Amino acid sequence: MARQIDTYLEPLLDEERFAFYQAVCDFSDAEIAPRLLSWEREHQLTPDDVLRKMGELGLFGLTVREEFGGQGGTHLDLILMGLALGYHSQSVAITPGAASSLGTKPLQLFGRDEQKKAHLPDLAAGKRMFVFGLSEPGRGSDATNPEVVAVRKGDSWVIKGEKCWSTNARWASHVVVHALTDPNGRPGYRSTCFIVPMDAKGVHYQEMEGKQVWLQSSTGSIAFDEVEVPADAILGEENEGFKVMATTLNGGRLFIAGLSLASLAFMLDKCRTYVQERIQFDDKPIGRFQRVQDVLLDMDIALHQGVTWLLHLVKEYDAGTMRRESAAKVKIECSRRASELAILAMDICGGVSCLDEFGLIRHNRDLFVCRVGEGSNFALKSLSTRPLVPEIANILE
Ligand SMILES: Cc1cc2nc3c(=O)[nH]c(=O)nc-3n(C[C@H](O)[C@H](O)[C@H](O)COP(=O)(O)OP(=O)(O)OC[C@H]3O[C@@H](n4cnc5c(N)ncnc54)[C@H](O)[C@@H]3O)c2cc1C
Repeated sequence: MARQIDTYLEPLLDEERFAFYQAVCDFSDAEIAPRLLSWEREHQLTPDDVLRKMGELGLFGLTVREEFGGQGGTHLDLILMGLALGYHSQSVAITPGAASSLGTKPLQLFGRDEQKKAHLPDLAAGKRMFVFGLSEPGRGSDATNPEVVAVRKGDSWVIKGEKCWSTNARWASHVVVHALTDPNGRPGYRSTCFIVPMDAKGVHYQEMEGKQVWLQSSTGSIAFDEVEVPADAILGEENEGFKVMATTLNGGRLFIAGLSLASLAFMLDKCRTYVQERIQFDDKPIGRFQRVQDVLLDMDIALHQGVTWLLHLVKEYDAGTMRRESAAKVKIECSRRASELAILAMDICGGVSCLDEFGLIRHNRDLFVCRVGEGSNFALKSLSTRPLVPEIANILE
């Protein structure tokens, strides 16, 4: 059965973009869907051969300019890749997704020419990855004041502390570390970002154990034990690290909204197929029950609305006109709605829903990350509400 989401995407895209999206769907149907279950059951991260093939398809360099070896595309291409790959597996999609939207992006936005020349070609080819080092064991939503500190030592800086929840850490060559550099600075201007090689002396990476979501994605904790880096490792301006992180997250949140819709698209197709085949009472399919139709229709409406809204915002983002709260709002709504519907999708399919091979339980689980990652939905509500109540914005909790 054709993907219902295509009905909504096709009219919004030019021919070339839709063909690109379909090519990634074909790749995902051929290379990911048939192998996913065994990766999950064997607790295996996305295998190297799949990473290599995604690199050969150019999926790590979609938004990188051609002069640096990339595809010269836009954020829209990245979102389309997320919709195409995330349909079967958010956790496979997030590998090139985070590599671009969180890894390469800060370098594209804030890197100096020599930093771009040194890293972008390899990142675009998928030969290396950067990790986005914002979250820490003691600093999640409250990310403006990191506990990781960097102290100046002559012409160098010495970094100490620990980052966690670092997506792609297993495959990363460098981590962009958000570190406190001026404890007495004004709020939002106390930290600096540093590009730190994962093989630098004093950097210790460990895969986080026991994670039950995004099973094929690497999630690491990275400790920095007096790691010395030169001053030219700074990304962006000194004491403007939070700006680097926050600006990067705007694009990342659009990607997470896309992953939520990719899950919703899969669930809708799975359910509409199943309810036409599953026979209960009087030799008739369960799709004839009106309550079952209600759920299908709610999924379809949410998908159509979400795709239309997201693509509109992505075009604004690419044009440089998107408001910051828009990315937060679309991420909140797409992940919330897809999560609510994921429970109902399982209900209308019954017991089979809890089997891993049926796929619904995977998306149900992975949607949790869409609600909490890149700013938890609850925390993002304050940011999104501020423009509505400007007179009291400074006291919002
Ligand atoms: C699989 C996975 C991958 C990730 N990848 C990365 C990555 O690559 N790089 C990175 O830096 N981070 C990453 N993260 C971390 C993610 O961004 C954080 O989990 C997120 O920012 C929330 O932080 P926290 O988990 O510490 O929750 P906390 O900040 O402890 O918040 C817990 C809960 O408290 C409530 N809350 C907190 N603050 C507020 C508020 N202001 N208003 C209302 N309610 C609030 C919310 O319900 C929130 O969910 C990843 C996380 C996961 C699970």
